[in-house]
Amino acid sequence: MSLFKNTLAQINNAAETVGLDKDILAILEKPQRILEVSFPVKMDDGTLQMFKGFRVQHNNARGPHKGGIRFAPEVDMDEVMALSTWMTFKCACAGIPLGGGKGGVIVNTKELSEGELERLSRAYFREIAPIVGPHKDVPAPDMYTTPQIMNWMADEYKKWTEEQLVKEGVPADSDVCKKRVSDALGVVTGKPLGQGGSEGRGAATAQGGAFVIEQIAIERTINPADTTVIVQGFGNAGSFAAKILAEMGYKIIGVSDSKGGLYCSGGINAEAAISCKAEKGSVVECEMTGEGCRRVTNEELLELECDILVLSAKENQITAENADRIKAPLIVELANGPTTPEADKILEGKGIEVIPDILANSGGVTVSYFEWVQNLADNYWTEEEVNKKLKEIIVPAYLRDSEIKEKYSCSHRCAAFISAILRLEEAIRKRL
Ligand code: NAD
Repeated sequence: MSLFKNTLAQINNAAETVGLDKDILAILEKPQRILEVSFPVKMDDGTLQMFKGFRVQHNNARGPHKGGIRFAPEVDMDEVMALSTWMTFKCACAGIPLGGGKGGVIVNTKELSEGELERLSRAYFREIAPIVGPHKDVPAPDMYTTPQIMNWMADEYKKWTEEQLVKEGVPADSDVCKKRVSDALGVVTGKPLGQGGSEGRGAATAQGGAFVIEQIAIERTINPADTTVIVQGFGNAGSFAAKILAEMGYKIIGVSDSKGGLYCSGGINAEAAISCKAEKGSVVECEMTGEGCRRVTNEELLELECDILVLSAKENQITAENADRIKAPLIVELANGPTTPEADKILEGKGIEVIPDILANSGGVTVSYFEWVQNLADNYWTEEEVNKKLKEIIVPAYLRDSEIKEKYSCSHRCAAFISAILRLEEAIRKRL
């Protein structure tokens, strides 16, 4: 299943609905730049191993390319092209002045020592350094990349920048040199706190999704205490989603990770599941003492009865094969591309509402944008300020999406793409 084809199908559907000019569509269908790199890493046993990585810059009509770096064995160019394209639409849908980019390395991080992971992160970043930069393309974390990895990458980019300045003959004590070196920190977001990171970045993707759920609950007078939630994927996005929604009063009844799922009809203590996963490596290892608790497979978890299904694992999880068996009336996509276009049609036919990835998970890139702004201004905000500003961006983005949905009688996904297309078209036309 080609993820990029799915992305193009979503764009085409929205373009057709809004009657987008074919020249603008042609621009949006193609990434501006594609880079594939191969690089050696010295392993702990003294051998050299070759790794392959990618960086795709989809579009920068609205601002510098922005998007995460994924370290996973199944990464390929098709996936990175899709993710990069979604970033362009996500930033435009949120209304932040950034474009789309994405990167990845084919690697299983669980098989590397910390030292090998550091050398790989630095070597990959050195390869892509000529095309990224704080005003050109700003990577961030994604699956299996962490604040620590972002820190190594920012540090490597700083060293690379200093080397370039020497090659260009820029005096070390000049203002130009000092500015380029200090701006180098802004080359990646998602860094640790105290090393240029922003308050609130870790939880941002989930927090953004939670603000959208809160707005939906206000519109429909939903009482969180009577609302059950299942969270698929228990990494950065999913574990924060379970924690934040539980704090808002929602009843978390199912969670899962790559090893399997846990279901408790009486509710799961999200904080306990987070500590247990940190200690034992998987939610399936957690003790099950609560009411109606049992282990479930990943397939089964998606098909259980609940009021809200939060998808926060990975792409292609709801497909034509299982869409008909989904029972949740509301799906919130914190993962990128978890629902295929065929599945979308089936879910729509069943009256299941999907809050799409490019809207629901845009909290991550929005707070990354805040981090970048804070780095360049050298002025840092509190977590309270970050969350207030995030809410002021994501709730209006959802309301705009809802208005467009009404106007064109289409799905939330189609409306979110139209919302982005209208802003992208304006920016592209100004450059043509
Ligand atoms: P992560 O690596 O921290 O977590 C991924 C989780 O999914 C892990 O717990 C893993 O065990 C689990 N998983 C993998 N396969 C699974 C399966 N078949 N069933 C159930 N669980 C499974 O990654 P993350 O950063 O939380 O990203 C998750 C998704 O959210 C990705 O699609 C990513 O692109 C998207 N996303 C993340 C951010 C962010 O800020 N982290 C922002 C926007 C979008």
